[in-house]
Amino acid sequence: MKLDVNALRYLTKDDFRVLTAVEMGMRNHEIVPAVLVDRIAGLKHGGTYKVLRNLLKNKLVHHDATKYDGYRLTYLGYDFLAIKTLVNRGVFASVGRQIGVGKESDIFEVATEDGTVLAMKLHRLGRTSFRAVKSKRDYLRHRRSFNWLYLSRLAALKEFAFMKALGDHGFPVPTAVDCNRHCVIMSLVQGYPLVQVKELQNPDDVFDTILGLIVRLAEHGLIHCDFNEFNIMIDDDEKITVIDFPQMVSVSHRNAQMFFDRDIECIYKFFNKRFNLTSEKNEEQDGSESDDEGNSRPSFLSVKKAAGSLDKELAASGFTRKEQVEMEKYIDEDAEGHDSGSDDEEEEEEVGDAVPIDSLMIDQDHSNEPDCNLASRDSGVPGTFSEEHGTS
Ligand code: ADP
Ligand code: MG
Repeated sequence: MKLDVNALRYLTKDDFRVLTAVEMGMRNHEIVPAVLVDRIAGLKHGGTYKVLRNLLKNKLVHHDATKYDGYRLTYLGYDFLAIKTLVNRGVFASVGRQIGVGKESDIFEVATEDGTVLAMKLHRLGRTSFRAVKSKRDYLRHRRSFNWLYLSRLAALKEFAFMKALGDHGFPVPTAVDCNRHCVIMSLVQGYPLVQVKELQNPDDVFDTILGLIVRLAEHGLIHCDFNEFNIMIDDDEKITVIDFPQMVSVSHRNAQMFFDRDIECIYKFFNKRFNLTSEKNEEQDGSESDDEGNSRPSFLSVKKAAGSLDKELAASGFTRKEQVEMEKYIDEDAEGHDSGSDDEEEEEEVGDAVPIDSLMIDQDHSNEPDCNLASRDSGVPGTFSEEHGTS
C-alpha cells in the first residue's frame, strides 16, 4: 500500500476537518452520508463538498453512491489522521522509507525533530482476509457493519500495551513509544528478521535463547502465537529482539497449549532446516515431553504451573475484556493464518526520501482524537472509533 506523505503537506485545515468528520460519522455508519459529513464538519457555503472531492482525488476517502451519496475513510485517510495526530504531539517529524511489509501491516521509518529514527507500524487488518481467507469472510458475513479500521485500531492498541508491558518486564522487545488509531510508534530494531539470516556463529546459543524466551513468556502468563523466524530480529552480535504482538494470548486461553506447542515447533523446525540443528543436548534430561526424534521440548503444562500473571496485569491495564474477546475471535478465525512474512500481493514497496511534514503543524486543536491512552479509552464496539472522540 502506498503512503505518499507528500500529499500530507498540501492538505489544509479544512481538509483535515472534513476527514475527521468522516471518521466521526463512521462511528455509526459504514458509509457516512455526505449530508452528515457536512453537518459535522460545519464548513460554510457548501465547502464540505468541494473538500470531499479533493479528499477523493487523493484517495483519502472512498465514495459510495449505491444507497445514498456517502463516504468512508480509506486506510490512507486513516493513516493521515494518525500521522497528523502523532506529528502534532511531537512524537515524530518526518516519514521515511518503508522497511517492512507484514501480513497485515506496513512498517516505515520515521524521524523525530532531533533526528532519532523510530519505526512506525500501520496495522492493516483485513488486507489479506478480503482477498484470501474465506473462513474470515464467512465469519464477517454474520456481523453487522464490521469495521476493519476498528479492528486495526484494536490491534495497534493491544500491540502497544503488550510491547510496553513486556519491555517493562525485561523482555527483548522494541521500546513502545506511542500509539494512535491503528498506528504504533516504537524504537527501530537494528538487525534483520531471522528468516534472512543464512549463517549463525552460535546457532545453539541463539536456539536456546529463543526457546528460553517462549518459556519465560509462558511463565509470565503469555503466549506469542506467532513466534517464528519472521518475528524474531537478530543483530550482528546475534542479539534477539521479538516483535509483532497483536495475536498474543494468555496461558489460560482455551487453545493455549496448541499455540504454545506451535510456537515451539516453529523454532525447532526452522533451526533444524536452516542450521541443521538436531542438537543432542536437547535429548531428554528432565522428564519433559519428547518428540518423535526423542528430543525433549519445553512442556506447556509444567510451564503453566509456574505461570505468573502478566496476562492479568494486561487485562487490567485498559485493554478491556470486550476488546480482548473481539481480538480473539479474529485470532481464532486466523488459526491457520500463521505469519508467512511479506504477503504475496501486488503491494509495491514505497521507498522514498524522508519528507518533513512541517505543514502538518498547522492545526493543533485535535486534542481529543482516539488514541491509545490506556487510562481513558472506551470499551469500543465495531463501527466505533472512540467514545472520547468529541461528536458534533
Ligand atoms: P506483521 O504483524 O504484519 O507481521 P511485523 O511487526 O512482524 O508485522 O513487522 C513486519 C516486518 O517489519 C518485520 O519482519 C521487520 O522486518 C519489520 N519491522 C517491524 N518492526 C520493526 C522495528 N521495530 N524495527 C525494525 N524493523 C521492524
Ligand atoms: Mg510479523
